[in-house]
Amino acid sequence: MNARLLDGKLLAQQVRAEVAADVADLARRGVVPGLVVVLAGDDPASAIYVKNKEKAAAEVGIAGRIIRFGADVSVDTLATCIDALNADPAVHGILIQLPLPPGIAPDAVRALLERVDPRKDVDGFHPDNLGRLAAGTPRLVACTPSGCMRLLHSGEVPIAGRHAVVIGRSTIVGRPMALLLLAADATVTICHSRTPDLADHVRRADIVVAAVGRARLVRGDWIKPGAAVIDVGMNRDAGGKLCGDVHFDEVSPIAGAITPVPGGVGPMTIACLLENVCRAARLENT
Ligand code: NAP
Repeated sequence: MNARLLDGKLLAQQVRAEVAADVADLARRGVVPGLVVVLAGDDPASAIYVKNKEKAAAEVGIAGRIIRFGADVSVDTLATCIDALNADPAVHGILIQLPLPPGIAPDAVRALLERVDPRKDVDGFHPDNLGRLAAGTPRLVACTPSGCMRLLHSGEVPIAGRHAVVIGRSTIVGRPMALLLLAADATVTICHSRTPDLADHVRRADIVVAAVGRARLVRGDWIKPGAAVIDVGMNRDAGGKLCGDVHFDEVSPIAGAITPVPGGVGPMTIACLLENVCRAARLENT
């Protein structure tokens, strides 16, 4: 392997230490940052993610709490819960764990996410926050793309004037990622499932961000020698092994820098969530 490893586990520890110092500073002003995660249904992966978030919050001194509902919860009940959290001054961050149960229609999911006070939207999914990012006046930015940017900065990957290719255009990862790279003066190409000749786009990239959800989609012969490769994907291969959207074994001898899966983007997402909770607490208290 020739590529430098962009170690998300290590960087996340540093970010968490910064957040813990920020929490201590807020405590001196009498503010305890509060995060509430709303979990509906019994998706086993969600249960693990939520537990990890609660544990990570506690470790840095954030007051974390989970509100649980059954899979048969109504949209009205969730809306009432969100309204109460919006009005609670001890709650600075509200996170609706996705996916919501299948009984809640996609339009209702969107409406619930938009019901969260944008100043408490620590996921950065609210159109108000995505719009601010697009307008160049960011407030709370989606955690996974923020984590990707921190990984690029930590690896001293040049961004300004470089060509970045983002594969994926979800509002959670791909779009905000492209906007962050644009704000950092990259020339950005966004690819998606209707993009013909994906490999040709990727071959021209100095920075590749793969946020697709297809195991090992990005192959070694797609990569420009020396390119930085950020792998957001979290997939299980046919053998049940956790892997990214990038074929790590093929790509790492060619790339200049690469994130592993696991241990790359994943830990950074939670660290940036904690950072957002502090940011939201400051929004309410400055
Ligand atoms: P998503 O909402 O399903 O979006 C996937 C995107 O990939 C869509 O824009 C889709 O295009 C595009 N796409 C699908 N197949 C493609 C193909 N063959 N070629 C090019 N583009 C293709 O997923 P997401 O929420 O953004 O997540 C993406 C991946 O990141 C998943 O593996 C997820 O588990 C992972 N993830 C990881 C973290 C973390 O912390 N590490 C956080 C969030 C997500 P269309 O828009 O045309 O459908």
